[in-house]
Amino acid sequence: GNGLMAGKRGLILGVANNRSIAWGIAKACADQGAELALTYQGEAFRKRVEPLAAELGAFIAGHCDVTEAETLDAVFENVEKKFGKLDFLVHAIAFSDKEELDGRYVETTRDNFLRTMDISVYSFTSIAKRAEKLMTDGGSLLTLTYYGAEKVMPHYNVMGVAKAALEASVRYLAVDLGGSNIRVNAISAGPIKTLAASGIGDFRYILRWNEYNSPLKRTVSVEEVGDSALYFLSHLSRGVTGEVHHVDSGYHVVGMKAVDAPDI
Ligand code: NAD
Repeated sequence: GNGLMAGKRGLILGVANNRSIAWGIAKACADQGAELALTYQGEAFRKRVEPLAAELGAFIAGHCDVTEAETLDAVFENVEKKFGKLDFLVHAIAFSDKEELDGRYVETTRDNFLRTMDISVYSFTSIAKRAEKLMTDGGSLLTLTYYGAEKVMPHYNVMGVAKAALEASVRYLAVDLGGSNIRVNAISAGPIKTLAASGIGDFRYILRWNEYNSPLKRTVSVEEVGDSALYFLSHLSRGVTGEVHHVDSGYHVVGMKAVDAPDI
């Protein structure tokens, strides 16, 4: 890389393994000279995240489960001790019960609705509040969303409702934090085969549908999302906040199945 992110310190939440979107973003940032802190969710993921962090020379800020506020407090304390301040933060966290990422949205239980909103939406706001204190020279916050927030996608269900709320939070946070020169944006990524995506019903069909019907006639990679994230996390986007940017091979502009798409 040519040092676009040199001198910048960032916290990236949501690396589960080397297929995670957060990992694609972490690699792109490190390649451009950023200093990184990563978290892991529980012991099972620690084993996966430790070697990945080592690969990038990243600091491990500890275990983070967004449903346990004290783990977030500890992570931010560790980041403050290590870095002093923060320039950017990536939130790549979402969860919903697999049972409800299939079939009809109307069947969503109250329990899973609340858990999905807590982990996938509220966590971004609670993290933004903590990050604000460390972003003393301004900063950039980035979250990950999906087209299911805008249009009904099969099986996405309560996660689509959660992503709509997440995108609205991006706008509210952009206003709240704008005065401190902290920008807040989202990337709406096309479907990628990750651990979280494997919970979604008929995911292979969704991938193929996008491949045949997007303008670029293919799906996107975590490296491509990572490169787009560089724009939001660097000074290049210093005039941009409250934005939801699609990195989806252009799928969101298409209104109908491509005439030459095979029946799948
Ligand atoms: P992933 O499974 O690699 O990452 C999901 C992460 O969420 C994991 O690291 C997991 O530890 C974390 N997480 C879940 N519950 C948590 C909790 N309670 N506390 C802390 N962390 C928790 O999958 P991914 O696809 O890279 O997902 C990252 C983000 O990208 C998610 O917001 C997802 O909705 C979004 N996204 C994914 C796709 C896709 O097709 N894969 C498309 C658009 C948006």
